[in-house]
Amino acid sequence: MNGAIEQDLHIHTVYSHGDTAIEPQQTLDLIQALAHSRVIGISDHFEYLPPVFDRYREDVHRRGFWCGCEINLSGDVSQALELPFDYYVYHCRDQESEYRGAERLLGSGKPVIISHPMAMGADLNRVPAGCFIEVNNRYVWKNDYMTYYPPHLDRFRFVLGSDAHKPNWLNHLVCSYAADRLGIVPHIIFPEPYGA
Ligand SMILES: [Zn+2]
Ligand SMILES: [Zn+2]
Repeated sequence: MNGAIEQDLHIHTVYSHGDTAIEPQQTLDLIQALAHSRVIGISDHFEYLPPVFDRYREDVHRRGFWCGCEINLSGDVSQALELPFDYYVYHCRDQESEYRGAERLLGSGKPVIISHPMAMGADLNRVPAGCFIEVNNRYVWKNDYMTYYPPHLDRFRFVLGSDAHKPNWLNHLVCSYAADRLGIVPHIIFPEPYGA
């Protein structure tokens, strides 16, 4: 157990079974046993969740994890808003419809995290300021984060996310290094585990 991680709200499990990066060992049981972060949220890909939503939510909550999802496109926003997620993780692409999708998610009053914005080509000037911007452990090093983030540091609050699809990705090694270089102090959305 690594007590250094306070919050990780971007984690996939076998509920994202069609994602080729998912390993069959990436179960809620193993994530609970590894306890890499003090506060944990699960954000499986939304498209797999509606048919199993009640089981998913119960499975996530009974472990003290917050129940989220990761939404790929704005076309899924209406359906996602109908389900009682605790928070949303959103792929904000560089299109008017996708920025509007972020606004609609914010209208729920629940936390909205813009995941790996550099990898999606998001223009942070157009992302609503109420969104949390992720520094993503899987992707941040692939682009010039020292150019991308600095113009926006005063406008947003930022979070770290592992985007783990397999057990050995359950860490914040690269994203916390990048955040330190950027002078970002990660925001804590949920101070305590679910139900605590
Ligand atoms: Zn993603
Ligand atoms: Zn993800």
